[in-house]
Order: sequence, then structure tokens, then C-alpha cells
Amino acid sequence: MNDLLAQGAERGLDRHGRAALREALHQALDALRARWHGSRSAGDPPEPITPAFWQQVEAILAVTPALSLRRAVNATGVVLHTGLGRAPWPQEAAAAAVAAARYAVLEIDPESGERGLRDAALAARLCALTGAEAALAANNNAGATLLALAGVARGRKVLLARGEMVEIGGAYRMPEVIAAAGARLVEVGTTNRVRPEDYARHLDDPEVACVLKVHPSNFTIGGFTSEATLASLAPACRARGIALVYDLGSGVLSGADLPPLRREPTVRSALRDGADLVTFSGDKLLGGPQAGLVVGAAPLIARLRRDVLMRCLRLDKAILAALEATLALHALGEEAARARIPALRLLAADVASLRARAEAFARRLQRPLAAEVVDCEGRVGSGAAPIEPLPSAGVTVTVPGLDAHALAGRLRRGDPPVFARVQDDRVLLDLRTVFPEEEERLLQALHRTSTA
Ligand SMILES: *Cc1c(COP(=O)(O)O)cnc(C)c1O
Repeated sequence: MNDLLAQGAERGLDRHGRAALREALHQALDALRARWHGSRSAGDPPEPITPAFWQQVEAILAVTPALSLRRAVNATGVVLHTGLGRAPWPQEAAAAAVAAARYAVLEIDPESGERGLRDAALAARLCALTGAEAALAANNNAGATLLALAGVARGRKVLLARGEMVEIGGAYRMPEVIAAAGARLVEVGTTNRVRPEDYARHLDDPEVACVLKVHPSNFTIGGFTSEATLASLAPACRARGIALVYDLGSGVLSGADLPPLRREPTVRSALRDGADLVTFSGDKLLGGPQAGLVVGAAPLIARLRRDVLMRCLRLDKAILAALEATLALHALGEEAARARIPALRLLAADVASLRARAEAFARRLQRPLAAEVVDCEGRVGSGAAPIEPLPSAGVTVTVPGLDAHALAGRLRRGDPPVFARVQDDRVLLDLRTVFPEEEERLLQALHRTSTA
């Protein structure tokens, strides 16, 4: 493959990036092998790579990179940018998804040949990583929360603090999710203050099946406030068989010691504090593909598995494979996870190294582009540490005769599409979210805007 990649690059076929070339080579090789299989026997000498092979690679590259859902450069400094697909997958996750795209050991036990659970291996890994008794995986955290509420409280009441009636975005508002799960919302406390006693007043109502707590992912309440913690609610819930469900949102598994995440609760700590079920996303701080995870008490997880919504929300094999690979990286420990899971690696990058990259990058920009190295602020994004600034470094770029919005528009419409911020009438490229191997293509994209 390395030889073929080098030959492909010599032919200029890496203009869409090495990943696209590698994928095209794999597809063309598969087609070649399929032909050999019909016409050649084992002892025949290997067939040389012919011009027809390279024509086929060209043909594949002519289709794939023209797709609208294509690779982009994220120069916004928002690490988990929902518009750009949130967490960039680890290489291992992408490779696992490609491998599973054909036939895969999905719902079958290779030992017995019997039908199995598609997320059994994943659930075991989640339990090992979080200390949970049981786990399951669904399509996204919105789905996971819907499933959890329906499973434990359909037809019954759910207590939710007024300060936690979160809207995550668009139509995803907590009171509506509770209604969609077939449960009834009971509002508790006030917007700024809620105490354990506010919940206690309702806990002896036999219709109450669930106390829901929600991570305030995209806002903070300051000033005269108080919150009833999981730990303060758990004993009373447990004594009455009321499920304490925590929609954690981002879900820190590793990297809790990274400065922007220091105040974020972890999945493990939420369980330790007494949550019966914790729901969180696969593509936020977990750093993998879009998914929703539910971990917690085995009888409750078993109940969710039997719910009709489980079938509606189940994951595809390629996503399951990518998720399992991502969890395998978390299992290597904090340091390895941070090195190999891109979302964590980007969050961990220190400002001094980003500044050094920005300086080197700015020196490579040529006239008529004018560049200046600046300190700037990014964000974790997707509701993790919403007001915590992420100190960063980048480059502002100007082109004479072109205002910042016009330049940003040209960058977005270019190949690859580049997404940047406009700040103080200048285009700002935050290097935290630009991978070093993308810098060359970013440079070319910038130079093309001044000649377009
Ligand atoms: C992000 C988030 C969700 C939605 O998760 P998706 O994976 O986008 O479906 C739900 N609840 C909270 C608290 C969140 O932060």
C-alpha cells in the first residue's frame, strides 16, 4: 500500500488527500482481486499493476471527492463543532468502520454460530471503563435519553428541576423529550434554586417513576443559585425504587485533568454519586462516532433493551465498529487516549506549541495575502464546558480589496472547504483545530482565494 500511495502521489492522485487516495486504491485492488479470483490459480506469478488499474483509481476519485458530505478543514477553534461533524474520529475507528462495511461479525457469536447482541462487546468495554454494571449503545444521546425515559417512566411522572429544562438545540427541549417518551413532567424548584426538599415533596407520589437531572450543556446560571446534587437525591430515590437518570451530555471518560474539562463531571463520578442510569454522547468528549450511550443498573438496562424504541434507535455496524475501536483506545489509559484520540489531542495542545505553528504558518503566506499571528480563544464546543475559554493561537489573514466575509466565503466554497472565524473584520484561522498534516492544503486553499 505504501508503494502504491507513493506511485499515486507521483501521478498527482493525492490532490484529494491521502485518505481519499488510500480508499480509492483499496477499492481498485478489491476489484482486481475479484477478477484474479475468477481467472487465476494460486501458483500464478503476481499480475503487474497496469495503466488500467490507475484509470480505475482515477474513476473512483472522480466520484468520491465530489460528494457534498466531504472532508473539511476546521479552522474555527471549536473542537467539537456540530456543523463539522463534532469529534474527528481516531484513525483506528475509521479503519474499523471500513473493515466492518462488508460482512461483519455483528449479531452472531462465532463460537456457537448463534444469534447474539450487536452491542455486547461494546457494553462490556463501557462497563470496564466506567465501573457500570450494564450498558447499551443507541443512535445518539438524544435517542439514549428518550429511550431511558420511556423505559423507566412511560405513562408515569418525571421530576425535573426548572433550572435544568435545557434546550440543546432546535427541537430538542427537555420537556418535549419527556412528553415524547410518553411520560409526564413535574417541574421542581425555581429557575435559579432547587433543593433536595423540593424533590422530596413529590417522592411519595406513586406515579413518580424517575428523577431526571440534565447537564446544563450550553448555558450557566450564576448569582443566587443552588442545586440538588445527584448524591443528595440518590438515597431517597433508591429507597423508593425511583430511577435517578442523569443526562450527562458530553461524558468525560478520559482527559478529566485537561484544563478546560476540570470542572466537568465524568461518567464514572456520576455513577459513583448514585445515578441509576447515565446517558452521554459518543461524538463529544468520548471522541468517537455519533452515538448515545446508556450505562448503569443491570435491571434498568435490560428493561431498555426490551423497549420498542431500542430497535428504532439501534446503531449501524460501521458505527459500532468505530465506537468499539474508540473505547479500546480509552482502555489504553489516559496518556495513550490523549495521544491517539484526536478530540482529546486537540484539547490538550498547549498554546506555546500552537503559537510556534502559527508563526511558521504565517511566514509561508505570500503576497497579496497578509498574515499576522494572534492569540485567540476557541471553545470545546457541543456543550462541554460552555463558558470555559480555550486559549489558543492562530493567524489572521487579509487580502487587499476583499472584505473578511467575502474571503471567509471563498474559503468555505473552496476545495477543501475551509471554515474560519471572522473577528474584528479579519479572517481568523485558529490552529488548534487544524491538523498539522492539513497545513499544506490550507496554505494552498488560502493562496487560491487571492487569485480567484
Ligand atoms: C449534546 C447533548 C444532548 C444531545 O446529544 P446528541 O448526541 O447530540 O443527540 C442531550 N443532552 C445533553 C445534556 C447534551 O449535552
